[in-house]
Amino acid sequence: MNEIRIDVLIIGAGPSGCVSASYLHKQGKKIKVVEKSKFPRFVIGESLLPRCMEHFEEVGLLDALKDFGFEKKHGARFLRGDIVCNFDFSKKHTEGWDWTWQAPRADFDNVLATELVNRGVDIAFQHEVVDVVFNEDGTSVTSIKDENNSVYKIHAKHIIDSSGYGRVLPRLLDLDKPSTIPEHSSIFTHVKDTNRPEGEEGTIITFDVLDLDTWFWVIPFSNGDTSIGFVGKTAFLDSFKGSTTEKMQQLLKHSKYYYKRFEGLDFKFPPVHIKNYSKSVKQLYGKGYALTGNSAEFLDPVFSSGVTFATESAILAAKLITKELNGETVDWETDYTGYIMKGVNVFSTYVKEWYTGNLQTLFFHRPENQDVKRQICAVLAGYVWDETNPFVKKHDKIVKNLAYLIDMGKKEKANQ
Ligand code: FAD
Repeated sequence: MNEIRIDVLIIGAGPSGCVSASYLHKQGKKIKVVEKSKFPRFVIGESLLPRCMEHFEEVGLLDALKDFGFEKKHGARFLRGDIVCNFDFSKKHTEGWDWTWQAPRADFDNVLATELVNRGVDIAFQHEVVDVVFNEDGTSVTSIKDENNSVYKIHAKHIIDSSGYGRVLPRLLDLDKPSTIPEHSSIFTHVKDTNRPEGEEGTIITFDVLDLDTWFWVIPFSNGDTSIGFVGKTAFLDSFKGSTTEKMQQLLKHSKYYYKRFEGLDFKFPPVHIKNYSKSVKQLYGKGYALTGNSAEFLDPVFSSGVTFATESAILAAKLITKELNGETVDWETDYTGYIMKGVNVFSTYVKEWYTGNLQTLFFHRPENQDVKRQICAVLAGYVWDETNPFVKKHDKIVKNLAYLIDMGKKEKANQ
């Protein structure tokens, strides 16, 4: 049997795996990426946050992405009835990138992986991790099934599990734990957006809020296609009858703002229905491995934090593993879990407060407070580690307290 010996095995060639691979390759480490699909492959997660641009830039992948010409995203629009809440990333509390992309992930991830292959990174497509055995010292032996169903073994000093929804190590090591985010599900597809209006209206990314738990995303791409998707309580989406195409057609009628634009358009693929997508794990690392991206945590699509979390954790895991390979000691609990969970906890509060309605109260309260808006905008741009921002530092209280004050003010006004 073929046996390979390397420093780091990376499972999955999504944004998380590619960012880790790019960093480690630049450091001259011996790595291999195994990816079970043939690229390009579809995956959901098309709206990025400015923060992730820093990661692509740092590992040298930004120029390849820029060359492709993805649709630029300068902010995000939230609609509720007649009220519009526009966030502009150039008007945010924290310094940093003020734009990013909204992109079909088949193309986006393919650009990343192709760039790495061109640089000489070993990516084995259609090779699937089927088993991992860890030795006491943290080194591991991984069994890989190739495209011909032959199995070979990789001996690695470290593993980065960036297998996304594959969740390779959480499954094999029983690391899953229930998420604390309330259960929601999603139905989504792409359309050829033939009724797309001219100008900004045609390209702006929008979240149409239908009720407390239900919202509709519209993500226009530069290739003329648009991603459309509904998120709602699992039971609510389950209550629609028929195929996913029929469900999607019925759901579209709920968006007064967009129904005319998307009515009657063919779906480019049968809508995908993902149930109870939030995921969590008991630990983010162990002896010889680190979990990054969706393999570790996934909260909710409402603030598009998935890819940014994937690249943030990927670059950090790659840096810490590089230190260990160079003979330095790493405090994984503080430097990995401590850091990552700070950001996850901030986003987690915002997701939870979205579904309690408190954050929606802040978004749609009029007149808007521009200071509050700049601070919330920084969070929505992914700058969730900046403790000079009160909406980061006091995330667990500030949204709740401000929403309470707004509600009290409304009640007082009504009683006058
Ligand atoms: P992935 O991109 O999933 O890549 C993992 C790779 O690992 C895949 O290519 C897979 O084939 C490979 N793999 C899996 N198992 C194995 C195996 N056994 N062996 C080898 N390879 C394997 N995020 C955003 O940032 N913006 C959004 O707008 C957004 N919308 C979302 C909407 C919904 C409904 C959902 C559910 C999620 C959304 N996300 C969004 C989250 C986003 O999909 C993920 O956070 C993101 O794709 C994570 O990237 P990753 O690199 O960790 O994993």
